[in-house]
Amino acid sequence: MIPASFDYEVAESPEHALELLGSREDAKLLAGGHSLLPAMKLRIARPSLLVDVGRLDGLSYVREAGDQIAIGALTRHKDVHEAQLLRQHCPIVSFTAGQIGDPQVRHRGTIGGSIAHGDPASDLPAVLLALGADMVVRGKAGERTVSAADFFTGVFQTAIGPDELLAEVRVPKLGSSTGWSYVKTARRAQDWATVAVAAVVERSNGSIGRASIGLTNMGATPLRASAAEAAIAGGASIEDAAAQIAEGTDPPSDLSASGEFRRHLAEVLGKRALNEALGS
Ligand SMILES: Cc1cc2nc3c(=O)[nH]c(=O)nc-3n(C[C@H](O)[C@H](O)[C@H](O)COP(=O)(O)OP(=O)(O)OC[C@H]3O[C@@H](n4cnc5c(N)ncnc54)[C@H](O)[C@@H]3O)c2cc1C
Repeated sequence: MIPASFDYEVAESPEHALELLGSREDAKLLAGGHSLLPAMKLRIARPSLLVDVGRLDGLSYVREAGDQIAIGALTRHKDVHEAQLLRQHCPIVSFTAGQIGDPQVRHRGTIGGSIAHGDPASDLPAVLLALGADMVVRGKAGERTVSAADFFTGVFQTAIGPDELLAEVRVPKLGSSTGWSYVKTARRAQDWATVAVAAVVERSNGSIGRASIGLTNMGATPLRASAAEAAIAGGASIEDAAAQIAEGTDPPSDLSASGEFRRHLAEVLGKRALNEALGS
């Protein structure tokens, strides 16, 4: 389909983008365009103004920030995947960026667009949730930091206000006792996850002492598997913890899978992710 008509402006700086964004109630930022343009073609999204931030250099970087790694919101998936700093300090993020779509999607799509879009089937949000990442949101009045736990508020909804932009994502540097895994299953190669599980674990004496588990496509937002995490903390085996992984979730039923099958997948993938994280 053809999108509804819209105006188009190229932002010259983040401040200019915020000014343009505030000039119309239904203005939208355009980053890589890989989620917004399909939604516009389907007329699910009908912004009257597109503010193109895709060419702003200042928001594309991966750099050290104390005990975190800061990733500019306009950093493309390919660059997140290849960033040496992330491979060294937070490899689950670079690995997962490499699992997104196909090379074309990874060359155009940005980490900020992926997170701001708020799609529960996107890969990075569950990973950021398991990591306890921070999102830096910028508005005309300045910046505020929102934890991943408070960021995803509903299907295609986030804590970013209509006149704000996501400027940066901060992920923790992981220590040598931390293991990780992101296990994804999709019906077609290079597609969105039917279900995926992110596990970040603290290893102690050959077993898992503490686990953070993020779930992709198991509800309206990315979710933490709190019951399974509590089971691990209480000394349960990986099998017993994985059996509780879908507790409290509300997975969708759609053409790819029923909610019941997603629950089953989450348990299977959860077991795999926890074992991989323990062995990593
Ligand atoms: C064929 C195909 C396969 C895909 N497969 C996967 C997959 O397997 N896994 C996966 O996770 N994703 C997948 N995607 C989605 C892809 O990762 C998108 O790139 C991403 O979701 C959106 O990033 P973008 O930069 O293209 O954002 P855009 O499409 O430009 O924007 C998306 C939304 O975010 C807003 N936005 C963008 N940047 C900002 C910002 N800095 N601050 C505030 N709001 C902002 C826009 O206004 C818009 O509402 C796929 C996409 C396609 C087309």
